[in-house]
Amino acid sequence: MLIEVINATYSYTEEHGAKAVNGLNLTISDHEFIGLVGHTGSGKSTLVQLLNGLIKPTCGQVIVDGFDLSSSNTNLKEIRQKIGLVFQYPEHQLFEESIYNDVAFGPRNLGLSAEEVLERVKEALQLVGLDFEKFKDRSPFNLSGGQQRKVAIAGVLAMKPEVLILDEPSAGLDPMGRKQLIRLLQRLHRDYKMTILLISHRMEEIARLSSRVLVMSSGEIVLDGKPAEVFSQFEKLRELALDLPEISEILRRLNNNGLKIRTDIFHIGQAIKEIAGELRRTRKC
Ligand code: ADP
Ligand code: MG
Repeated sequence: MLIEVINATYSYTEEHGAKAVNGLNLTISDHEFIGLVGHTGSGKSTLVQLLNGLIKPTCGQVIVDGFDLSSSNTNLKEIRQKIGLVFQYPEHQLFEESIYNDVAFGPRNLGLSAEEVLERVKEALQLVGLDFEKFKDRSPFNLSGGQQRKVAIAGVLAMKPEVLILDEPSAGLDPMGRKQLIRLLQRLHRDYKMTILLISHRMEEIARLSSRVLVMSSGEIVLDGKPAEVFSQFEKLRELALDLPEISEILRRLNNNGLKIRTDIFHIGQAIKEIAGELRRTRKC
């Protein structure tokens, strides 16, 4: 599935100058894992809502597999099934009296048979790590925040999207919840061949998971490249008031202090090897 954003602009108000997304161009290809970062208000959430037709560009186009999302001939229901969007705090949108019904809501809307809906709910709950028998009849409102988030994500997965977009899915989760979420995303990308677009403030998460990183500022994409390329733009990132992944920050400081080591490493084990190697090379007898 190919997503093309062509010179797209979006304004929430008529006023001049207030453009949440501003003349943005972007192509997303099959099976990419994209990390999207940027300061609060830079336009990330607006951009991802443009991608599945939830909002339409004020000018410019969003084309999915050749279909212009602004055209009245385009089947937006089908597009939204293929491009799943997990909102920020998706648990706020749970509303059914049972977990089963909440996860089944989307598949039922697709007109699937009761058996197919059952299969999808089972698989989606299993993917997010909730036991079907134990949870299906419970009210989503009696769960912990982390479990509610899992139910909400299961509701999107039950649609079997080809592209999964998640807007700050780890916000407010505890370390265990974040770990589980990362494993889920890795699995969906590797085993289910999903294209993933992840918005996160956690640069470690972005650096380790993504094959491509986009940085937004004032409604535009200002950096676009492999994690190592983007996170080596120290000055630019500082200008945008964005953090580096912690490991990069440590390696950069050591480098500034005279240690000749690579700074494009995001795994703690590799970083230790790099530092130890350099210390061995420079050790005096
Ligand atoms: P981000 O997700 O990067 O924090 P947003 O896409 O939410 O950025 O916001 C981009 C800009 O659009 C900001 O200036 C924000 O204030 C504005 N904005 C976002 N949502 C609305 C809205 N519902 N109504 C008016 N302005 C909005
Ligand atoms: Mg946002």
